[in-house]
Amino acid sequence: MLSKDFINARKDELEKKKAELEDQLSSIVKLDRKSTEYDSNFPDFGDKEDENAAEVAEYQNNLSLEEDLKFSLSRINKVLQNIENNRYGVCEKCNSEIKTERLEAFPQATVCMQCKQNDI
Ligand SMILES: [Zn+2]
Repeated sequence: MLSKDFINARKDELEKKKAELEDQLSSIVKLDRKSTEYDSNFPDFGDKEDENAAEVAEYQNNLSLEEDLKFSLSRINKVLQNIENNRYGVCEKCNSEIKTERLEAFPQATVCMQCKQNDI
């Protein structure tokens, strides 16, 4: 069993990470909004094709970054929920306890090292 102190420390880390991710996400969403306005003007551009392509590429980069951030956030939320439900540190695949070293290095882990390796 994990100690309460250990879980609380991981919870602090997760909440800090979550705040960072939300910060990053909100700055990207702002950029996206700009890009969307840009997109609506899309057909009017004829002479600036290079610039256009660069902007579109950046927009797509932001989109995939946004996906990544959303994925990480949803994962952290899930783990925080596991903490609430006293299921923190239990592998979601094999139900065994995840090693504390792993949780220290990667507090949002939801599977044990064994299952992670089997997955790859
Ligand atoms: Zn496992």
